Amino acid sequence: MKSKNKSRGVLSNFLHLFLPEVCVVCGQELLEGEMGACLSCLYKLPKTNNYKIKDNKAEILMAGRIPFERIACYCVYTEGGVLPPLIHNLKYYHKKEIGVLLGRMFAEDLAESDFIKPVSMIVPVPLHPKKKKSRGYNQAEIIAQGMSEVTSIPLVTDNLIRVLHNPTQTKLTKTERWENVKNIFDVKDKLLFENQHILLVDDVITTGSTAEACGIALQKCKDIKISIATIGEVF
Ligand SMILES: [Zn+2]
Repeated sequence: MKSKNKSRGVLSNFLHLFLPEVCVVCGQELLEGEMGACLSCLYKLPKTNNYKIKDNKAEILMAGRIPFERIACYCVYTEGGVLPPLIHNLKYYHKKEIGVLLGRMFAEDLAESDFIKPVSMIVPVPLHPKKKKSRGYNQAEIIAQGMSEVTSIPLVTDNLIRVLHNPTQTKLTKTERWENVKNIFDVKDKLLFENQHILLVDDVITTGSTAEACGIALQKCKDIKISIATIGEVF
């Protein structure tokens, strides 16, 4: 796997000598200083600004499922919109720079807000180690990195962990599926998160079951507070 990635890197470096980098959304040639997507596409991102709104859609979705302080989603994830190609390229085409960029842009909006001020640690939703190994990185961690750079809030990537690989879920009932997901996260050193306000970061929120499962694990830490931030909301 490693050598495959490496050879892809050499090939793409070689191609870059001849082919200009293009925006993953519109295909236009990128200008100097642009990363992954051009500025005019980034400008079109459908931001929710829901960090300013208490009881926003995401918070209503998660209400009563886990105790949390606040939830914010940077953009609406609409098919055919600007965000899906960005997330897709981040996850499947090794465009890590897109994750850093989205994390930074989101954090710049959040900076100085009441949403981010009380947060003491940024924690990405972990990928299963096997998946991380095959992909080479965890996309949530890349986004969290960008957020940590802008806010100077420490990034903690190795304390919330994924313990089981999800067996195929297709033949399970909805309840069985949830039972299966519920216990996949754990906290290694519970003292580290004690008394902390954690910002849990993921790429997108859909049903909220991943955030909920992380929340169940995080709650084992004494006096923890949990907020959640995702780049996209899909609902
Ligand atoms: Zn573009």
